[in-house]
Amino acid sequence: MPASDTIAAIVTPQGRGGVGLIRVSGKESLAIAGKVIKTINQQIRPQEVHLGEIEGIDSVIYYYFKSPKSYTGEDVIEIGCHGSMAVLRAALNRIIASGARQARPGEFSFRAYLNGKIDLAQAEAILELVNAKTEKAAKLAYEELSGTTSAGLRKIRVAILAIIARVEGTLDFPDDIELGNGIENALQVNIDALGKIIEDANRGTMFREGARVAIIGRPNVGKSTLLNKLLKWERAIVSHEPGTTRDTITESLEIDGVPIRLVDTAGIEEGKIGPEGEGIDRAKREAEIADLILVVLDGSREESAEDLKLLDRGEKGNTIVVVNKSDLAQKARTKGISVSALTGDGVEKLDNEIVDRLGAGGGDGQVLISQRQLGILVRAKEALQRAQNSVKIGIGEELLAIDLRSAVDALDEGLGLGIGEEVVRSIFDNFCVGK
Ligand code: GDP
Repeated sequence: MPASDTIAAIVTPQGRGGVGLIRVSGKESLAIAGKVIKTINQQIRPQEVHLGEIEGIDSVIYYYFKSPKSYTGEDVIEIGCHGSMAVLRAALNRIIASGARQARPGEFSFRAYLNGKIDLAQAEAILELVNAKTEKAAKLAYEELSGTTSAGLRKIRVAILAIIARVEGTLDFPDDIELGNGIENALQVNIDALGKIIEDANRGTMFREGARVAIIGRPNVGKSTLLNKLLKWERAIVSHEPGTTRDTITESLEIDGVPIRLVDTAGIEEGKIGPEGEGIDRAKREAEIADLILVVLDGSREESAEDLKLLDRGEKGNTIVVVNKSDLAQKARTKGISVSALTGDGVEKLDNEIVDRLGAGGGDGQVLISQRQLGILVRAKEALQRAQNSVKIGIGEELLAIDLRSAVDALDEGLGLGIGEEVVRSIFDNFCVGK
């Protein structure tokens, strides 16, 4: 159902900038712009840029997209002002006084969805793109925007519908084993296809959520020096005295496009009290919540009892052992990634290992879809697996058809077909005003 009113919002971020943009969308956009912009060109053609004035506020440029060839699918006017919030608000107020309504968060994209310009997966990709923290995350979101996953889901959906037709056909020939095998294989192909998307999406999640990586180790093994090397600039105070990093230091960095929160913890030594003891507690807590832990040893010394204790907890699996000070004669026997935080030797290898261990390694095979979509894909795959099981053990076609139907329903939900307006709205609520 097309929206009846015309909406407007400032679409550029809050703050100062060279230019700021206001978008007006709806049937009345041209008429409203005509009231607001002095000497508006009445013969304006789509995609032509014009110069005008909002009287007493600013000189502006404006352009027009004619329905359906616009972001929202409606008539859209965009007005570029100088990028001061005061100017933009004054201009927006005048537009609203002339008959537009302030757009709600995500309302332009919601209208684009209602008008069939984008599907739900693409709407979510727009949100990912706007929120992308790294270039790689933006690239993955942009790929989604072109509808890669939606296209994959549509293909699977069509295949399952075809299987449903075959299953219904077998109701007339219940003993046709050939057909049973064919269905089992066809199901496997689609289970694999869904499995691949889910796997890629799990790998892609890291690019959105980022990862928490904690550096732990005894005092003076070179944790702060390593943090600096990973950050590639000086942040933590490096000291020759053991135990200077009393608190935890958290820094954001990016390794191969993965946003990482790197936490340097206080040197872990048992039995300390006072401020240092507190820091140590914090270090242990940090190690509990981190996605990945770098246990740092001083390779130029034999392992101490504390080192061995730390390595022990490394058995948990989310640990990389870093043997530091490779530039000195080595006495430690523990195997790990050998680096010199001082010279930078081996740090690139450590970078790669971090990305690999976070599951984000490898150039391809990552997609960035929303948690909502991921949940739905898992549901669809489970339904297909149940269906396949039914075929294997020869349960009746009716049950089989129910599972196949629920797989199709899940895929429909992923694509935004036939789902309630409330769910759709809740997705667009996550958008910012102006998107
Ligand atoms: P932390 O207490 O674990 O954070 O250790 P720091 O980073 O403060 O380093 C302690 C001392 O070890 C400093 O004197 C550093 O310069 C030195 N250090 C750190 N990494 C290396 C390294 O790879 N090689 C050498 N030779 N010295 C290092």
